[in-house]
Amino acid sequence: MSAPSSQPLPPFAQRVDAAVHDEHLHDALGRATAQLRSRRGGAFASLEQSDAVRAAARAAKMHVLDRLDESLIAFEQSLRARGFQVHWAETPEQANDLVRAIARRAGCKLAVKSKSMATEETHLNAALEQDGVEVVESDLGEYIVQLRRDRPSHIILPIIHLTREDVGKVVSEELHVPYTDEPKELAAIAREVLRAKFLAADLGITGANFGLVEEGALCLVSNEGNIRMTSSLPRIHVALLGIEKLVRNASDLDAMLRLLARSATGQKLTVYTTLIEGPRRSPEDEGPEESHVILLDNGRSTTRGGEEAEILACIRCGACLNACPVYQQIGGHAYGDTYPGPMGAIWTPSLRGMDGWKELPGASSLCGACEEVCPVNLRIPKMLLSLRARAREQHGGSPRWLRFGLRFYAAFARRPWLWRSALRVASLGARLLARDGWLRKVPGPLSAWTKRRDLPAPAPQSFTAWMSARARERARG
Ligand code: SF4
Repeated sequence: MSAPSSQPLPPFAQRVDAAVHDEHLHDALGRATAQLRSRRGGAFASLEQSDAVRAAARAAKMHVLDRLDESLIAFEQSLRARGFQVHWAETPEQANDLVRAIARRAGCKLAVKSKSMATEETHLNAALEQDGVEVVESDLGEYIVQLRRDRPSHIILPIIHLTREDVGKVVSEELHVPYTDEPKELAAIAREVLRAKFLAADLGITGANFGLVEEGALCLVSNEGNIRMTSSLPRIHVALLGIEKLVRNASDLDAMLRLLARSATGQKLTVYTTLIEGPRRSPEDEGPEESHVILLDNGRSTTRGGEEAEILACIRCGACLNACPVYQQIGGHAYGDTYPGPMGAIWTPSLRGMDGWKELPGASSLCGACEEVCPVNLRIPKMLLSLRARAREQHGGSPRWLRFGLRFYAAFARRPWLWRSALRVASLGARLLARDGWLRKVPGPLSAWTKRRDLPAPAPQSFTAWMSARARERARG
């Protein structure tokens, strides 16, 4: 199976335009995000003192991030004590080279991989395939993505942009089986293929949801059981995780787990919670012979020193994506990189710099829905605003017409009599342009608005005029 095409990315506006006009995408996204939001609501209703749990989870993540250097050293020591081999990667290339070297030394030809955003970040599959290693995704959604030579469009549900009919079609065409769109039958077909791959693979690659500093363990969650097989059946296990993924200990993990599943899929707990404590030890006869942990920086250290440092506490639940009205309209691919939605609009430019990504923080209505659902109370709109300010500093200010327009607006808004007169004139003009109570085309910069939607004509009497008239009537008794 080949990697997705590495065509240059079209400009952001073009990607958004294509997504906005994609009715099929809206259908798929609308159904899935609505369902996820409602399930999340139900799941949180069953969590006692949820605000306190969220505050505790935030405090626990911040505690580790504030002492990240010492936490990482302690984590490395406890991992080594468990028998893990620990490696450090500053860049995606270094991370890929480490995995390639491990695979080469062990003569690996087939690798199974569970869903891992860090490996998406480094494009690990393509790097291994260059060395002749076949990589098979073991998460069902990721497997479909791989069969389609596509990219995931959501950090929890990689094929949220597809309908079940799309999935049925790709499975039938790529695996040469009769068409079905029954989820159970599709899962059974994939299971048949993947079981054989699990048994034949030499290398199992995973990410990690959390690294437990004191215990020297990795925690991974899944609903499919594929992570257990990926990490325990092949003779070598490699886990690639970002340096920010740490929690102090199992007690802090408890709060994270209660929040993660509720926020991600509306479950009280994911079906499988796996704790990995290193390679097989004598007299055990199961588990990998070698366990490697690669700790990836890739810009995280720089982010840690900046105004968006808080984003490193993100536990990748995806709730902010499901809540975001912009994500609901444009889906994940329009964001152009590994991480979509509000968290991605912060994560990508923070880690990769503003060049090529400066528009992402603007992909938000700043309605605050993301912050409201974030299980670790990240101040997402505040970070988006600080990135917007940085984009302006680095890439020039707003267009001249906008700066002029805002100055003009300020001059009027500071003088109530002038404001009221201008409103009267604008309202009269708008009513003259309106047909059947709607403005279908307006001139100047406002034309961008009416290109896609109609504007209601202003009421004959403004709200302020109506209030004043009402006050006068009341005074008259
Ligand atoms: S920013 Fe918050 S809501 Fe969004 S993915 Fe991260 S933890 Fe979840």
